[in-house]
Amino acid sequence: MTVTRALFDDVMVPNYSPAAVIPVRGEGSRVWDQENKEYIDFAGGIAVNCLGHCHPALVGALKEQGEKIWHLSNVMTNEPALRLAKKLVDSTFAEKVYFANSGAEANEAALKLARRWALDVHGEQKTQIISFKKGFHGRTFFTVTVGGQPAYSDGFGPKPGDIVHAEYNNLDSLKELISDKTCAVMLEPIQGEGGIVPPTKEFIEGVRQLCDENNALLIFDEVQSGVGRTGELFAYMGLGVNPDILASAKALGGGFPIGAMLTTTELAKHLKIGTHGSTYGGNPLACAVAEAAFDTVNTKEVLDGVKEREAIFKNKLAEINDKYDVFKDIRGQGLLVGAELNDKYTGRAKDFLSAALDQGVMSLVAGANVIRFTPSLVIPMADIEEGMARFEKGVANIVNA
Ligand SMILES: *Cc1c(COP(=O)(O)O)cnc(C)c1O
Repeated sequence: MTVTRALFDDVMVPNYSPAAVIPVRGEGSRVWDQENKEYIDFAGGIAVNCLGHCHPALVGALKEQGEKIWHLSNVMTNEPALRLAKKLVDSTFAEKVYFANSGAEANEAALKLARRWALDVHGEQKTQIISFKKGFHGRTFFTVTVGGQPAYSDGFGPKPGDIVHAEYNNLDSLKELISDKTCAVMLEPIQGEGGIVPPTKEFIEGVRQLCDENNALLIFDEVQSGVGRTGELFAYMGLGVNPDILASAKALGGGFPIGAMLTTTELAKHLKIGTHGSTYGGNPLACAVAEAAFDTVNTKEVLDGVKEREAIFKNKLAEINDKYDVFKDIRGQGLLVGAELNDKYTGRAKDFLSAALDQGVMSLVAGANVIRFTPSLVIPMADIEEGMARFEKGVANIVNA
């Protein structure tokens, strides 16, 4: 069977519009398509491929576990899941872990835990969830409603209730909404899909304080920011503010689907036997790969390397901007970098992405005005250099068009 991009339109539900090319293999931060055209990967599968493509540690773990045992279900536990959970607990605020298969599922578990805790401890009136405009938490009906883009949750009938949205980085807007009826406040400790927006110190510390004053739980959605992305193991560690519940996914599996919800023993006890679950969550194959990814990322060398690469990305983008005057802001933390287009190019982030892809470099957008870079955390310096040279050509093509 010849597989072409046209087949997508024939056989796939039309909820995506993928690029015209089909990648067939990758190694490190380089990817090749069906025509054997090479790309530098600054997208990392949307902040997932934290060690690039086919990293030997991950391939090794996958092969080794693939020949042992793939799946059991939660009727039995397994060694990789327990090892990974132990490592997550040992290196974070958390004491307990729940495994899921995706970011949305990890967040779904976090929200259900919060609601259950509030019901058990405080009673039926404490159900309000506060989240933030432009926030993104996944596409299940609960998480997409908690997300701050109504366009994504509209059009599916009645939504899960008692969910309201404040303005990110605006403590007063949270103060207006929060009360003793608030069950949880959920946020990304740096907004990803919403345009790469880091929190101010005053905001994040204020959110924690308001949660404490109102007996509300603080949930950090670290699906995009976690597992080394910001140069910290988790972004909260760089903020000096601990959540009560944390969701991880994306980089956690380095490309293998897995999600995790982390919390304290005190809260975890409210998810009693039978209250929540997943057939695949904590699957040995996923956990074995995630364990290898975690071991590799959670080293001083890799985490320091992220900060080093952040500076190179930002400097390169600033140099391109000096020449072409396209960005009004270059921001982000670690290898979650955003370049916001200036007024002349408003709404054209996708055009830059396409122009860059034509030149052989993969990037992402975060909304209509921000070009996003989420490469491998260990991308070789030479690939950054080459990728940025290609990106610059894409920019030049747009500016000179
Ligand atoms: C990607 C993302 C999600 C959703 O993760 P899925 O694995 O697609 O369900 C949730 N929250 C944040 C912050 C994300 O970036």
